[in-house]
Amino acid sequence: MDQGRLRHSHHYYRVIIGRWAAVVILFSVALTACGGPKHTGAASASGNVAAPLLSAPPTRSGSADPGSNSSPASASPVGASPVGASPTARTVTVLGSGDVLIHPALWEQAAADAKAENRPGYDFGPIYASIAPVTRSADLAICEMETPLAPPGGPFAGWPNFNAPPQVLTALKEIGYDSCTTASNHTLDQGLTGVKRTLDELDAAGLKHTGSARSAREAANSLIVTTASGVRIAQLAYAFGFNGIPVPAEQPWLANLTDVATILAAAKRAKQAGADLVVLSMHWGTEYQHAPTAEQTAQAKQLLAAPDIDVILGDHTHVVQPFAKVGKKWVAYGMGNQISRHADPVNDSREGVMPRFTFTETVRGSHKWTLTKAEAIPTWMDITPRLRLVDLPAALADPNTKAGQRATYQAAYTRITGYLNSLGASGQGLVVD
Ligand SMILES: [Zn+2]
Repeated sequence: MDQGRLRHSHHYYRVIIGRWAAVVILFSVALTACGGPKHTGAASASGNVAAPLLSAPPTRSGSADPGSNSSPASASPVGASPVGASPTARTVTVLGSGDVLIHPALWEQAAADAKAENRPGYDFGPIYASIAPVTRSADLAICEMETPLAPPGGPFAGWPNFNAPPQVLTALKEIGYDSCTTASNHTLDQGLTGVKRTLDELDAAGLKHTGSARSAREAANSLIVTTASGVRIAQLAYAFGFNGIPVPAEQPWLANLTDVATILAAAKRAKQAGADLVVLSMHWGTEYQHAPTAEQTAQAKQLLAAPDIDVILGDHTHVVQPFAKVGKKWVAYGMGNQISRHADPVNDSREGVMPRFTFTETVRGSHKWTLTKAEAIPTWMDITPRLRLVDLPAALADPNTKAGQRATYQAAYTRITGYLNSLGASGQGLVVD
């Protein structure tokens, strides 16, 4: 064990706790003005357009109907007052996360957790509980749905042709996710039926989605979510391929296959449709490899050179890859797994990261934005005694975390930080929380 790093880290957390205390005080003052964090406001009882997604009709999901996808988000406490910004400038936080990769052990855990509460079925809430404060406080929280979803009653399937319990969506919605990307190499595992069912189930859960589609019309329309402060954020998602399954010639719109020219055109359309920001999710890279491939770095450079794409969230590799600045923009090459339980659960695939990017409007109302803060929140999958996703900074700051666990978490945190910074991200301004 590297004692020097541990000491440094303890000091770091005291600084972090101090910073958070200041933020909490500032934020509690601001609460009276802005109504508090999203998904908790009293507005949830109303049925108007701005009502929270929990009560919103599902039919709007995935549509391009700009402005209709109102989210009850409010300003996040983090990054509320970036240095150098006008005090009235709007800020918005975008949170990404790694693959939702549901292996059989995860639905067995969800069944056990439901049973422990004397309820039938599957409850993924306890698996996800630790990250809820982070996901709820983001203005836009994006999940990456790696696999198709089965009917609620199953049958469920793991690798290689996944068909996961849709009950996971209840937990994702509950902890504050707004949308999920559905372009992955597994998108076509269950064919056209699987794509349609997955999107129907996301709609029913009140989660927006992008990356696959049920019709040419749906595919042609950008997903644009409007936050509570009126910021319109478009999301795009593409995958490098579908495990050898061709996109059917009759349904070329079924799943988004990576093509730089196609992506640039879609981003342009989104900006023309009124998006303030375009967040691009890329399913790319080589599995189990921390270093981005030459293709990833070349594509990041081409895509971020366009004025229409503001940030890239990368997924698929099942391990954490570095973040890097390309010009003035950021790419998170690989966010690792979020929840997973591989048959051979090595450390690499238990590690993940939630990037949180803060954008600030240069002058209020100008619709011109700069990325003012890049953060990374490391996560870890506990596999004993229960499968639990762990927010590492929170667990390390918690005095009740037991010594043995603390050592495991600290080691994971140190490894993840190393991967994130392997291309010099810390020197470029990345803050690992
Ligand atoms: Zn994948």
